[in-house]
Amino acid sequence: MNHVIGVDLGGTKTAAGVVAPSGEVLMLKTIPTLNRAGGEAILDATAALIAGLAERAADAGMSVSGVGIGSAGVIDASSGAVVSATDAIHGWAGTSLIAGLCSRLSLAAPAVRAVRAVNDVHAHALGEAWLGAAAGSSSSLMVAFGTGVGGSFVLDGAPVLGHRFVGGHVGHFASPYATSDGTPLPCVCDGSGHVEAISSGPAVYESFLRFGGFALDAADTRGVFALAAAEAHDDGAAAASANSRAAALSAIAVGASAAGQAVGGLINILDPETVVISGGLADAGDLWWKPMEFALRQELLAPLVSVPVVRATLGNTAAIVGAAKLVL
Ligand SMILES: [Zn+2]
Repeated sequence: MNHVIGVDLGGTKTAAGVVAPSGEVLMLKTIPTLNRAGGEAILDATAALIAGLAERAADAGMSVSGVGIGSAGVIDASSGAVVSATDAIHGWAGTSLIAGLCSRLSLAAPAVRAVRAVNDVHAHALGEAWLGAAAGSSSSLMVAFGTGVGGSFVLDGAPVLGHRFVGGHVGHFASPYATSDGTPLPCVCDGSGHVEAISSGPAVYESFLRFGGFALDAADTRGVFALAAAEAHDDGAAAASANSRAAALSAIAVGASAAGQAVGGLINILDPETVVISGGLADAGDLWWKPMEFALRQELLAPLVSVPVVRATLGNTAAIVGAAKLVL
């Protein structure tokens, strides 16, 4: 069987690798995403990245027959166009992703016959379902908590994309935690009171400030976690005010509980064989994971109590592996 190239095209960087039929990533290269330069410039840079890897693969005696892409934004998997995208990648919405790459690669890498694309969270989940934390499960739900909140339900080896390819926006439904003084918190989608508005990384930082934490004691979400993890006798904790430490602990507890409750509700709806939690917050340790899993299990219907809830295992290569699976 031929090798393929998997591409993970995100808001700040684009990573690609040559992927063996087994899923092993053999060559890895990362470039900055030209997120201010517009769709055509990004396609030029991505095509050059792919062509360079195909050449390296050929030099090593491997032929590359296809390219799979996991891309930021809502991706129409049949037409290959970027339906919508946030301004994290300026000018990405409306770009003809697959057609644009095919025309560039027809000259630069003529052996590439198949190019497919899905949203990057779907690619990430597909990677975990194939070879990562949900390997061997016939169905899995992956939810990622980081700068944003996204997810994907993978059923029999394929992510459920939805009729309009918007499926998986699990950060955008109501959370009872997403309020302040009775007013729903604003969400990045222009809605309000959503899961993402209380449980994303930036939302945890907003909660910290709202709960009386001082920006001088924690400059960002990472700082909030460092403050919360510091023991009372540590230098860091001693230097910070008691208000800030209490606010950090509360902000994490509320965000994690909202995350867990939301995933628990989704498990009640979908009944996946395995649940995978991913993203920067999932990697932040027990301070986040314990209240998240507690709230999740509180939410479950009785027949679901034994559902496995595990951390993602493939790390940075998950979306590359999942994207590659689209054409393997
Ligand atoms: Zn929203």
